[in-house]
Amino acid sequence: MAVKESLPYDPQNVFARILRGELPCNKVYENDYVLAFHDIAPKAPIHVLVIPKAPYVSFADFSQNASEAEITGFTRAVGQVARILQVDGPGYRLLSNIGEEGGQEVPHFHVHIFAGRALGPMLPE
Ligand code: AMP
Repeated sequence: MAVKESLPYDPQNVFARILRGELPCNKVYENDYVLAFHDIAPKAPIHVLVIPKAPYVSFADFSQNASEAEITGFTRAVGQVARILQVDGPGYRLLSNIGEEGGQEVPHFHVHIFAGRALGPMLPE
């Protein structure tokens, strides 16, 4: 079921539970602002999620309500994770699904990093 953008933050969502250590993750990187971990159902040879540690429902919420430090910290961390994964040479794709029509399933803002092969068209025809 896709996320309704208008709903308040749900502290029981799966990424909130990972952040609290209630569920495991395959961690790639962590700092004060973000946690990055491998997607449980990868859709590319490399499929990593970068999430802010603070509770934002989506990019829409994050871009409107996060502090300058959080936005800078998050943006720099996404680039850092790409460097750790060594995908910035061959290239990669960033994706963030927002709300119902965006196909967002987990209501905690996240950016997908896809890499490891030529990724083809941006969207299915
Ligand atoms: P989205 O549709 O953008 O909300 O994507 C949510 C992503 O979270 C999907 O690619 C799922 O495979 C992934 N996911 C869901 N639960 C977990 C989990 N426990 N650990 C890692 N990734 C997860």
